[in-house]
Amino acid sequence: MKMILLGPPGAGKGTQAKGIAARYGIAHISTGDMLRSEVREGTPLGREAKAYMDNGQLVPDDVIIGMVKNRIQQPDCQNGFLFDGFPRTIAQAEVLEQITDIDRVIDIEVPDERLIERISGRRMCPLCGATYHVSTHAGDKCSCGGTLYQRDDDKAETVAVRVREYHRKTEALIDFYAQKGKLLRVNGDATVDAVAEEIARELDA
Ligand code: ADP
Ligand code: ADP
Repeated sequence: MKMILLGPPGAGKGTQAKGIAARYGIAHISTGDMLRSEVREGTPLGREAKAYMDNGQLVPDDVIIGMVKNRIQQPDCQNGFLFDGFPRTIAQAEVLEQITDIDRVIDIEVPDERLIERISGRRMCPLCGATYHVSTHAGDKCSCGGTLYQRDDDKAETVAVRVREYHRKTEALIDFYAQKGKLLRVNGDATVDAVAEEIARELDA
């Protein structure tokens, strides 16, 4: 099973990805998490990506494609994988077509107004990558013991740029995959559990 989770920043891709990956026994591949770890470790790739990420812009396609090609060679990808936050441009999707066959693309749809409140209240765990929202999680501790933090690019100025980047460069992927007959559309403007149920229903159908 090889799948993609599509949707604007803050749609709930990361939140839903864990459950889907566990259910199908496939690897969860978040290019955002991979980039953040490269930045933390100060690798050459991380140093190149950082300025784009801080500004809310997409990292250049060649950087992302090289990183993903390596990642899907890893042994945990043998049963398949779920991409979260990749591809984000038509160019990335076209290269992906050449290197592997994607079975399903799940588009989580959330209106722009809702994205801002979701992203500005998001808190992340630096240890395990879990994501919370201030409205539903009291305190600053992760269940794994990590101390939650707010991503720099989740501050208001940058969020607007990221949503614009999504509309300019990523949204076109909805048609790209619809034309290939791979697209499943899910209403993301519902509770976490309701979204998870709709995804499971669509994938079972
Ligand atoms: P993405 O990976 O698409 O950027 P996240 O999964 O990190 O999005 O979710 C963004 C924020 O919204 C997080 O704070 C998360 O806890 C919250 N969130 C995710 N799904 C929902 C939902 N269905 N309803 C309300 N809040 C949600
Ligand atoms: P979100 O969960 O809010 O959608 P991500 O964690 O997926 O955000 O991505 C954070 C940042 O990392 C993006 O704003 C972008 O700079 C960079 N990034 C992640 N994935 C990609 C990608 N596939 N192509 C280009 N840039 C990416």
